[in-house]
Formats: sequence, structure tokens, C-alpha cells
Amino acid sequence: MKSNSYKINNRKKTSIKWIVFRYLFIFIAILLILLWLFQIVFLEEIYTGIKIGSIKSYAKIIEKNIDSDELQTLINRISHENEVSIRIIDNNMENLYISDIIPDSMIHRMDINEIRKIYSDIKASNKSFLNIHSKEKFRDHMNNDRGLVPKQPPMNKAMVKIMIYADVIELQDGSEALVMLSSVITPVNTTVETLRVEFIFIAVILLILTLIIALFLCSKISYPIIKINESAKKLAEGEYDIKFTGDGYLEINELNDTLNYTARELSKVETLRRELIANVSHDLRTPLTMIIGYGEVMRDLPGENTPENVQIVIDEAKRLTNLVNDMLDISKIQSGSQELVLSRISLTEVIRELINTYNKLMEQDKYNIDFQYDQGVYVYADKVKISQVAYNLINNAINYTGEDRRVTVIQTVNNGIVKIEVVDTGNGIREEDIKFIWDRYYKVDKTHKRAAIGTGLGLSIVKTILDMHGCQYGVESTEGVGSNFWFEIKEDK
Ligand code: ADP
Repeated sequence: MKSNSYKINNRKKTSIKWIVFRYLFIFIAILLILLWLFQIVFLEEIYTGIKIGSIKSYAKIIEKNIDSDELQTLINRISHENEVSIRIIDNNMENLYISDIIPDSMIHRMDINEIRKIYSDIKASNKSFLNIHSKEKFRDHMNNDRGLVPKQPPMNKAMVKIMIYADVIELQDGSEALVMLSSVITPVNTTVETLRVEFIFIAVILLILTLIIALFLCSKISYPIIKINESAKKLAEGEYDIKFTGDGYLEINELNDTLNYTARELSKVETLRRELIANVSHDLRTPLTMIIGYGEVMRDLPGENTPENVQIVIDEAKRLTNLVNDMLDISKIQSGSQELVLSRISLTEVIRELINTYNKLMEQDKYNIDFQYDQGVYVYADKVKISQVAYNLINNAINYTGEDRRVTVIQTVNNGIVKIEVVDTGNGIREEDIKFIWDRYYKVDKTHKRAAIGTGLGLSIVKTILDMHGCQYGVESTEGVGSNFWFEIKEDK
């Protein structure tokens, strides 16, 4: 079957490799922007922020231990470990504690006036004092406040800055002390310069890596997809025996399996479709030929207008009806449009009624259907469908039974399981055919005279209904002795 309706959907044409590359590129770009911002643009701010944070925390430690005997040791330790100068001054502007790690430290060189100004600033604003300036600027700034002319320092990009932090704290005796800390903020300009060069290197390397990874990922991801797509196109064109071989990762393996399964199922459907056409046309043609043939004979030859011939026409018409009904049944059941209508039913009664009707119908043909059972049993099942199962099995038994025209239906109950067996005395079924008889349109002996009776659908309907009920079923058949078709269903006590 060639199909011309296959058309590529043009909506989205971007290949997976560009999609992967695009997202990887966005990721790398964000990474580089972040690196640029943190390492280069805001490095100074971040570094200063960290410095301010730590100097404040040292001040907090000193404040907590201001009345401790060990304060001098603590101050020395903080000072040496973190390279900060510390000076604590009392109300009378006398030094209480001093630690000087930075030679020529700003806070040690401050005169009384400068200190007083800081002190009063803190008291006035009720906030700690923080000042970051180049060495010279700081002095100018103080002088300026005192009305002295500022002296412009030479502008130097890599100027060392001094940070001074001060706060007023209360001592145990009620007096106040001014805690001053100072530390050097080394310029980051040279670092930034180094980082900038490094950054360019990193950016180039990352971009090359992105390209390589994108290409690698694409070949890993897209190659199996391309392969599968090629096979799928062939499948769409009707090549059902195509094998999907794309391999590489879990999802693709699963897709492969699914598509292989789909191909197998499609091929089954295709075979069934062909068989259906062959069978149906054959099954329709035979009775129709008979009806037309007999009809013409009866029309042209008055002597042939006998009840027997009319009966043949009626029988053939009935066969056509059966075929159409069976086909409708199976398509309804198998399309899933029919659901089970479960209720508590007397299985024994259902079968007994069925056999009675049959026995009446078959009286003149001398068929004998015997029903053996000990007790009436109830089951929880779909009444219409279960009687269809019994009907199909009994019908087959009648069609295929031996010359004695005997069919026996046996009902037994064992451990709450009801077993129904339909036994005939016919030719039985060959071992190699047994596994196929439940398939749709399967007829064992297509040339056998009696095979023309059936449609090949009966057992398929039985199988579908019993599967829906979750029943066990099967057949034991001995060639030349007969067959025993059985199914089991749970008793509903
Ligand atoms: P059909 O309408 O042809 O009977 P079924 O699906 O009912 O179709 O049965 C499939 C095939 O199984 C039949 O063609 C027949 O060869 C075989 N079969 C079914 N029942 C019996 C039986 N009781 N004895 C022998 N062969 C049977």
C-alpha cells in the first residue's frame, strides 16, 4: 500500500542541533554575564562590602567584651589576625586600649579635635561612623570641616583606601567609650585587570566548549531520531516488516520498542484486513451464488419450486445474516465500545434455556444436546455475553460433531469455580491448529465441506468475552475422538 498523503508538517523547522546550541549558548551567556558582573564590574563594591561587614563584626565582638579583663589580648588578636588597627578612647579622650598593626595608622594619628568631631557626629546622628577615603582625602575632609583649605591629592587609580569605623559604647560604670577600628582597603584595579584578561580567555574557551558539546549532544540525540524517522517514513508507506534500530539512550530505546511493536501490530492488522476481504467476499459470495442459482432454477423450472429448494434459499440467507451479525459483534466488542453489564445470573438456567431452544430447532435434524449438572449455580457476569459464549461453543460443537450428532454440555463446581465443558464427538482439532483457532477468521480446514458453515469469528468472540470477564478457558481435542471446549467462571454464592 503506497500512501501519498504523507506530508511533512512545516510548522516548526528548527533542527534539534540548533535548539540545543541555542539553550547552551543562553546558559553560557548568563554564566559569563554573572561572572563579568561579580568578578569585574562589582568586584570593588563586593570587596568593600565584605570588608565593612567584617570590621563591623569586630566592633561587635569588642563591644561585647568591653568590660572583660582579657580585652587587650582580644584586641591584639583581632588586630593581628585581621590586620585592623583598634583604638578605644574614654570620655576624657584618653586612650583606654590600643592595638596598632598598621604602621602609621590613621586612627592613631588623629588629634583630639578630629576624635571629638567623630564622637559628636555619632552622638548627634545616633549612628556609627563609617568613612572610606584615600589617606589624603580623609585628612582633607577633616580639615575642611574645620575650615582649613583642602589640599588636592594626586589622583592615582590604584590608591590605597582607608576605612575607619567608629561607635560609642557604654561601659559597665555608666561612662562611655569610643571604639575606633581602621583597616586598609587594598585597591582591586590590578586584580580586575587580571580578571578581565582571564575573563576573555574563559569566555572564548566556554564558547568553543559550548559548540563542541552542542555538536556532540546533537549527534548523540538527533542521530537515532533521524534513523527512526527514516524507518517511520517507510512504515507510513506500508513497509510493515521494517525494523527500528535507533539506539543510544533510554527514551530512544523505548520509542524504538514502541515503534517496532506498532509495526508488528500494523502488519497483523494488514494481514487481517486482507484475510477479512478474502474471507468475507468468499463467505458472502457462496451463499449469494446459491440463492441466485436456486432462485433462477425455481423461476425457470416450475417443477423445482419445492419446499426443499425454498428452504435452501432461506438457509443461505440466514447464513448471510449470521455472518453479518458475527462481524458486527466482533467489531463492537473489540473496539471496546461494548462494556460488560454485570449482574448475578443463574448460569445453569441460561445454558438450560439455550439447549432447550436448540433441541427444539434441531428436532428434525436428530441432533441431541445433553446437559449434565448437579446443582443450579449463580455467577456474576454479563448475561447476554455469557450466553453468546455458550451459544457459540454449542453451535460449533453441533457443526463439527460426529455422525452420532451428539453434543454434551457438562457443568461442574469445584472450590467455588464453575466449569462449563462443551463436548462433541467430531474429528477434533489438530495439535498445530489449536493455538490459532481463537484468532479472527481462522478456519482449520478451509476446503472442508462443513467449514463453509462458520465465519471463523465465533471463537474469537468467545475469547474476547471471556477475557473481558477474566475467565480461564481452553480446549482439549483428540483427533478422531472429539473436542472439549471449556471455560471457568467464579461462582457467586
Ligand atoms: P467457525 O465459525 O468457522 O466455526 P470459529 O472461530 O468458531 O469459527 O472456529 C474456528 C475454527 O476452529 C473452526 O473453523 C474450526 O476449524 C475449529 N473448531 C471450532 N470448534 C470446533 C469443534 N467443536 N470441533 C472441531 N473444530 C472446531
